[in-house]
Amino acid sequence: TVQLHKIKKSFGGTDVLKGVSLDIADGEFLSLVGPSGCGKSTLLRILAGLETQTSGTVSIGGRPVDGLRAADRDLAMVFQSYALYPHLTVAENIAVPLTMRRLSGAQRLPGIGPFLPGSRALRQEIATTVREAAEMLDIAHLLDRKPGQLSGGQRQRVAVGRALVREPSAFLLDEPLSNLDAKMRVHMRAEIAQLNRRLGATFVYVTHDQAEAMTMSDRIAVMMEGELLQVGTPDALYDRPADIRVAQFIGSPA
Ligand code: ATP
Ligand code: MG
Repeated sequence: TVQLHKIKKSFGGTDVLKGVSLDIADGEFLSLVGPSGCGKSTLLRILAGLETQTSGTVSIGGRPVDGLRAADRDLAMVFQSYALYPHLTVAENIAVPLTMRRLSGAQRLPGIGPFLPGSRALRQEIATTVREAAEMLDIAHLLDRKPGQLSGGQRQRVAVGRALVREPSAFLLDEPLSNLDAKMRVHMRAEIAQLNRRLGATFVYVTHDQAEAMTMSDRIAVMMEGELLQVGTPDALYDRPADIRVAQFIGSPA
């Protein structure tokens, strides 16, 4: 379980999150939706350990993780902008979390890049893991290319692949499809939902897109101005919106 308990966040006196509590079950696909600026990315970044909350606690698997760095939390984040290294190949980009993980702090020198000499067995093991992830995402034929030689959808798969190799118990995705054209978006939607079922991992999925949330999710959390208005299944939100603003977002008849 991923648990957010009374999370508050203010930036320079502005309350961006006003006490958000949410429990997400193991294996659940939860979409976080709401208008621009309501605090979705901030909440996800706090969960990931990329931002510190003003108050409240985050637990993963029953364990508070508030002191833990992002890399030490059992989750992986996929961003809207893919944040791939342009000078590394697809294979090297996917391998980044693995190569970084094996290096001690002393070895991890800035500017050297992720590929330090390692044992042959280790390199072999990493290559196998990368290939498996790439096969799952249908990009195994692209492993030697650079990100600049890929389409948007292919780049997005590489970013997902990089999260996959960490084998986290939870994936956090922040509008991962918003840079894709409509056709690719629909295609990737299905693939991500399928990944959730195949891996049995928890997915927290931020989107603007009502159709995306309605078709992919076990539950949807509707956020407005730093608060959760309602959390429920797509059907429950559609049939029994708690609020006119939920109804408007979901598109249920008012
Ligand atoms: P969008 O759908 O546009 O991505 P969002 O729901 O993800 O929006 P956030 O990025 O979480 O919104 O931002 C919530 C609010 O917090 C916004 O008003 C934003 O300007 C503010 N904010 C976010 N990060 C910072 C920061 N580092 N410093 C100051 N204000 C910030
Ligand atoms: Mg955002």
